[in-house]
Amino acid sequence: MVERKMTEKEKSDIRMLMKFVGIFCQKNHGGEKSPFSFKLLEIKEIEKKKIGLCADCKQLLTYGLTMRLKCPHDPKPMCKKCETQCYHGAYKAKIREVMKFSGMHLVKHGRVDLLYH
Ligand SMILES: [Zn+2]
Repeated sequence: MVERKMTEKEKSDIRMLMKFVGIFCQKNHGGEKSPFSFKLLEIKEIEKKKIGLCADCKQLLTYGLTMRLKCPHDPKPMCKKCETQCYHGAYKAKIREVMKFSGMHLVKHGRVDLLYH
């Protein structure tokens, strides 16, 4: 478990990350999905809606959430402007694809409010 309390900013970032990976997986990956759970924190406290993900996306989201919680900066800068590049190699390419795809998806569906808040 996380020892400290999460800030609202962290919660909203986590919610966002889950949403983005969720959309991406739903639209791009067929096959079997199962509900995402995360051992380090109670996901239900943050996002009531369950998201189903394929094994790959689960791995990516777990990585993303872990890195977000480990972020040493406060306030956290934009990831692309950050000196601590926590996404490496394959994860970096993947999360970029996810952000681009899901970002576009939200814009197309008029949910820009989810992107900037
Ligand atoms: Zn997937």
